[in-house]
Amino acid sequence: MKTLNTTIAVLGGGPAGYAAAIRAAQLGAEVVLIEEKEIGGVCLNIGCIPTKALLKTAETGTVIKKSKEFGIESSMSKIDWNVSVGRKNRVVKNLNTGVEQLLAFHGVNIVKGRGTVVNEKKLVVATSEEEVCVNCEKIILAAGAEPMLPPVKGIHLDAVMTSNEALSMGELPESMVIIGAGVIGLEFATMLAPLGVKITMIECKDRILPGEDEEIASELQKLMKRQGITFKLSARVTEIEKTENGLTVHYDMGDKACVISCSKVLAAVGRKLNSDKFSNLTLHIENGAVVTDERMETNVKGIYAAGDLTGNKLLAHLAFMEGKIAAENAFGLESRMDYVAVPSCVYTNPEVAAVGMTEEEAKRAGISVKAGRFQFRNNGRALTLGEREGFVKVIANEKNEIIGGQILGVNASEMISELTLAIKLKAKAGDLADMIHPHPTLSEAIWEACGDIMGKALHKI
Ligand code: NAD
Repeated sequence: MKTLNTTIAVLGGGPAGYAAAIRAAQLGAEVVLIEEKEIGGVCLNIGCIPTKALLKTAETGTVIKKSKEFGIESSMSKIDWNVSVGRKNRVVKNLNTGVEQLLAFHGVNIVKGRGTVVNEKKLVVATSEEEVCVNCEKIILAAGAEPMLPPVKGIHLDAVMTSNEALSMGELPESMVIIGAGVIGLEFATMLAPLGVKITMIECKDRILPGEDEEIASELQKLMKRQGITFKLSARVTEIEKTENGLTVHYDMGDKACVISCSKVLAAVGRKLNSDKFSNLTLHIENGAVVTDERMETNVKGIYAAGDLTGNKLLAHLAFMEGKIAAENAFGLESRMDYVAVPSCVYTNPEVAAVGMTEEEAKRAGISVKAGRFQFRNNGRALTLGEREGFVKVIANEKNEIIGGQILGVNASEMISELTLAIKLKAKAGDLADMIHPHPTLSEAIWEACGDIMGKALHKI
């Protein structure tokens, strides 16, 4: 057995793990990064990046459909899904290579294989050639999460997929039932519906996007319905059956038993954290998540955890930050995570982005809430783009401090950083209302929503 001695061992090469490895190496630590699959984890290989690459195909289709409005007649004569998937694979490969080069530049030693934690100072990695023993002073666990399957008869049929398989479909199906109208389900619906796939979403709750602002979610559902997507809410799948032509999905809605036929089913009902793989450590685990302090250290001294494993929001950008904080503390610095301003983005059409508290959360916390709104249909830039749907909502407390914000609209994911910065720097609604925003831009809607709180929005009656 080969032996490697290092200061810090990182288990998992996703956003949390590779960020931790780079940061620890930047500080001067010797680092071994253990990863059994591709570097970049779910986000880069089978999550954020590939879905966004394929969403660009859908967006292109939507542009073609809308082109007449702009004086150009065109039609979508053929969709070659293989070409779209090929492009997605090239984007992923490009980024894979980039991250591997970054790690190499920083002198991180990547060991490819399945790692097992033996004790607080030792891991064993089964590589394709041999077993490698990694002795270390500190360990950062960043083993991520994987798709969960609902306990439904027929869930293991070939035509039933999780997001992992759905990203590599050889061809577009005629129709698809998506179980779960959360982030993944809605992004896949957005990706496939404009390309002609008949989408039905079955969601057990009485609303889509649980966790996000209710007003935003309900407006998004209305807009997606207009795009031809069918929603079955308060509905539960009971069985999936293989038929001659595809699948039949049985589901209950209230006391009614219903059926629907489709070519494929996508299960998007949440993710299971890989926290059950460290039985040799006496880790404190709560609701499947590895508990850490704000320094990302677990109850076992010298063992840190970051990313999905910690059960905070499953977001790559949060994982980057947790990985960096874990690395700094493992190196001996004193760094703390701050969860006050964590933005989240859903790449639907239009996009949803949010940060801080929703109006409902703030009310539940007993805060006397002020909510300012501005509709994109009153924003010049939105009209020039032909993207008038959605609105900005800014939430402030009694002192007018911004404590949350939600955006439904084109490029919402790019705009949310302004509100994230506002919360991070404890800015007040008046600060943003008095800040000059460039014209014509979509960001003026944030300016006007803050103006609405202060009673001085300029383009609002
Ligand atoms: P999710 O928790 O966002 O949504 C799952 C949905 O499935 C929920 O609405 C839930 O009520 C529903 N559900 C659960 N069991 C069901 C059942 N048996 N029948 C019908 N509906 C059922 O989970 P997800 O969409 O799988 O995403 C997983 C994680 O990945 C999320 O935490 C998400 O934030 C993250 N993610 C983020 C992004 C992004 O940032 N853009 C993209 C994809 C995923």
